[in-house]
Amino acid sequence: VVSVNVGLVGKTIKRWGTEEQREEWIPKLGSGEALGCYALTEPDSGSDPASLTTRAERDGDDWLISGSKIFITLGTWAKVALVFARTGGEGARGITCFLVPTDSEGFEARPIKGKLGLRAQDTGELFLERVRVPDSARLGAEGDGFKVAMSALDNGRISLAAGCVGIARGCLDASVAYAKERTQFGQPIARFQLVQELIADIGVELEAARLLTWRAGALADAGDRHTLESSVAKYYASEVSVRAANAAVQVHGGYGYVDEYPVGKYLRDARVTTLYEGTSQVQKLIIGRALTGESAFA
Ligand SMILES: Cc1cc2nc3c(=O)[nH]c(=O)nc-3n(C[C@H](O)[C@H](O)[C@H](O)COP(=O)(O)OP(=O)(O)OC[C@H]3O[C@@H](n4cnc5c(N)ncnc54)[C@H](O)[C@@H]3O)c2cc1C
Repeated sequence: VVSVNVGLVGKTIKRWGTEEQREEWIPKLGSGEALGCYALTEPDSGSDPASLTTRAERDGDDWLISGSKIFITLGTWAKVALVFARTGGEGARGITCFLVPTDSEGFEARPIKGKLGLRAQDTGELFLERVRVPDSARLGAEGDGFKVAMSALDNGRISLAAGCVGIARGCLDASVAYAKERTQFGQPIARFQLVQELIADIGVELEAARLLTWRAGALADAGDRHTLESSVAKYYASEVSVRAANAAVQVHGGYGYVDEYPVGKYLRDARVTTLYEGTSQVQKLIIGRALTGESAFA
């Protein structure tokens, strides 16, 4: 909730918004009076958001937005949606971002049920049918929507990585506590070297993920460019959170597979982190592009 509301939405309005847009939304998002969602993904455009098809057409001084979005975190709870829509031709340069109040006529949000994890959090599908917004709802210049979307992800990926560090920390704490309390072969399982190996790997990777996250955060705080560092932190921390949760279930044996201990939930919740805000494959393409100067995106 915090990662999307603050990392993806609030900071993006702060960076790209007009004075009026900032005054209208940032205090509400910061206090929790309103939540914001980030509506980029569509049924046919996930890893390739430059191919999105939601359209915004000029109508006098207004815009009419039509299309649909899927897998939108806070989709049915949000009061405002950052909606990315095509206002020009094909590709990244034809996209514009709009701040759309979710109580607008023609805007419908439906919850998505049956998720593997993040069950306490809202994920929704959005349907926009000729939703009318004034030109003052445009966030950034016409055609700058893709830049707005990517700059939001530069920040969102840091908060996401921080959340992954938290999951890994939870896995470490739960595993250490359980390994000390559970006895087999007449001694705490914490004494077995193979159990210590599971715990040591969680501990080492957790620290590395934390440092990468801090580095990206420090660059962002200093106002320096951090696209590469955010991607590195997100990629590494998300993969670590999945490995840590998997190892934590292993430390707990059969008890890790049932709800009595939290580690099963950590595994379900961690699993999505290598998917959203760019899959691990997409992060590797971003990192590879930065390191080689060659883009492997189509
Ligand atoms: C719980 C949840 C919350 C989400 N929240 C939001 C949100 O708030 N806002 C939002 O806009 N979106 C959100 N998403 C969407 C998420 O960002 C997308 O699911 C993700 O970007 C992947 O897109 P896709 O699901 O269409 O998969 P696809 O793009 O179809 O990818 C399928 C597979 O192909 C791989 N692949 C694709 N292209 C390449 C390539 N060029 N090279 C190598 N491999 C490739 C992918 O890595 C993946 O393994 C959320 C998703 C989930 C599950």
